Parts: sequence; C-alpha cells; structure tokens
Amino acid sequence: MIVNNKELKIGNIHSVVFDFDGTLSLIRKGWQEIMTPYFTEVLMNTPNHGLLVEESKCAREFIDLLTGKQTIYQCIELDEQVVKRGGKSINPLVYKNEYHKRLLEKINYRRIGLADGSIKANDYMVPGSVKVLEMLKTHGVDLYLASGTDEQYVKEEVELLGLTKYFDKKIYGARDDYKLFSKAMVIKKIISDNNLHGSSLVGFGDGYVEIENIKEVGGIAIGVATNEETMAGFDEWKVKRLTRAKADVIIEDFNNIIEIEKLLF
Ligand SMILES: [Mg+2]
Repeated sequence: MIVNNKELKIGNIHSVVFDFDGTLSLIRKGWQEIMTPYFTEVLMNTPNHGLLVEESKCAREFIDLLTGKQTIYQCIELDEQVVKRGGKSINPLVYKNEYHKRLLEKINYRRIGLADGSIKANDYMVPGSVKVLEMLKTHGVDLYLASGTDEQYVKEEVELLGLTKYFDKKIYGARDDYKLFSKAMVIKKIISDNNLHGSSLVGFGDGYVEIENIKEVGGIAIGVATNEETMAGFDEWKVKRLTRAKADVIIEDFNNIIEIEKLLF
C-alpha cells in the first residue's frame, strides 16, 4: 500500500464506489491492445498523418487520459484528431461500434467460459475482490458500481463474476445517450441522496477519471494498480498514472484486506 496523502482524513464511511474494468473485473483485460492499433490505423488513413510511431503514441496518450470515461469520449477525440489531419468527421459511434466488435472477438471466449463454468471467476478478477466486497458489507457500507462500459455489458459481466449481489442494483454504466451518465453524476447523486460529506465517500479505481471525480467532492480516492498480466504486485505504469491523478492511496490489489480495513474503519 502506498499512501500518497499523508494528511488523509477518513470520516465515517457511508458509501463506496467501484470502477469495474481493471478495478474488479479483468474480463476486458487487454482492451488497450485492441483500441490503440485500431485508432492508429484510423489516424494513418488520414491525408496528413504522421509517422506510424507518432500516431500510435498520440492514440495511446489520449486513450490513457480518457480511461474511465465512457468509451464514446475516446472516439470523439479520435474524430477530432482525424479532422486535424485533414480527414472527414464522422459519427464517433461508428468508431465505438467497430472497436467494440473487435474487442468482443478477442474476449468472447472469456464471457462464454465464465458462463458455462469452464473458466473460474477468480481468473478474471483483481485478486481479493470478493474479500473486499464482503468486508465492506460487514461494515454496512452502501456499494455502488460505476463503469464507462455500456451498462448492459457491465451488468452481464458483474453477473458472470458472481458480484451482482454486492451492489443491490446500484450498477451504472454508459448509456446510448452518453450525456445521461457520467461517473461524476453518479458520485454527486450519492452525496446528495445521502446528505454526505466527501470524507464519508470512498472510491476505488484504476483510471484518471474516477480518481479525479472522487477528489473533486472531497472523497477518499484509492487507486488500484494491479499488474493484470502476473496478477501479483504493482503495475508501475498504473502507479504513476494514479499518482498523477492524485490518488490518496494506491494498492496493488485487495489481498491485503486487513490493511485496507484498518485504513478505512
Ligand atoms: Mg477501469
């Protein structure tokens, strides 16, 4: 556990918000290896494109910066980058649909395997996920899930991992009309519905967006920097990203449940 904020004040924890992909679920592990080459390919098809390495770096950077927001925002940025290079603007939904089609081709075996039991949920969860949810439940905390992935898929994948029961229907994801949902909106609603102070709200996430959203309301932001390949130890690149986003605390996963419980309660 890395404590970045030495002055961290923890209130009476009332609600906890989880990001999904990369924070609890690894079903979509490797999505960047689909999005980055696809976006690079689109940029390389514009009239005034740069070198392949430059376009790939550009795609990687804006994808990373927007990680945690709904996928459509990465596609909107792609469209803007296309226009900058003399290409034609199109409906960003076209990019989103093509990306998602390619991603599902890559990960569908995981969804099928989890559904028929040939793959164990633990193989596609951040280590200790069930333990942390159980621990928070015993403290009577309200649990929310807010994801930038389309809501229908989030709900399906939460179910595939056997986690639906922890969230008591408080599962939110991207909508077709993307302005109807954002993580910031979910967080503001939790605060106002329950009349909370920021210090009673904890957020767990692996992306910039949710960490920033939690910090904006004075909440406690815990970055999850799991090494998705080895499922052990920190991913140093994620640690850097979460530090830049000003996460109060960064953990490698949820295995060290005693330490997390001691921090929060
Ligand atoms: Mg995430």
